[in-house]
Amino acid sequence: MRSLTHLVLHHSATDATLGVGDPEGAALWAAIRRNHQRHWARTVPGYVCDYHVAVGPTGVIFTGQPLAMVAFNCGNARLDAVSIAVCFLGNFQVAGMPALQYAAGVQLLRSLSEQHGIAVSHVILHREVPSERTGIPGFTACPGRWFPSAAMRTALEDHGGGGSSRAAMAR
Ligand SMILES: [Zn+2]
Repeated sequence: MRSLTHLVLHHSATDATLGVGDPEGAALWAAIRRNHQRHWARTVPGYVCDYHVAVGPTGVIFTGQPLAMVAFNCGNARLDAVSIAVCFLGNFQVAGMPALQYAAGVQLLRSLSEQHGIAVSHVILHREVPSERTGIPGFTACPGRWFPSAAMRTALEDHGGGGSSRAAMAR
């Protein structure tokens, strides 16, 4: 298993009207996976998706790329190599996050960070990832200006995420 030290958070940046008739996001998730597979089919055998896991608007969790495989998610090869990519379905550049999605997302991030000994400080937004060329972050708005990152980090910290990274280092 590759080493997993970071969680990188994304949104799908998809139009809200795509959700009509697909409230849980299953059809949207299938379309995202198909697009990514088409893109990587020739170069990376068995490639599933640029994201390892997704959270739908009603809190349904979808799986994508196997954790053992790198997902080309954040435009920085060094971080791609050690990250778990989590995608929140929706466009948080234009809308807030539904409460059910937020709650499921926090629960998912807690369990992933505990399971893999990832510190809260290593839970980062796509837009915080430094560009490989310049070292400066901010080449994308992902996961959107209304993404509730402050609340999420507080929720993760309250859960005592700091201790798990120390436990992981001792292993
Ligand atoms: Zn992103």
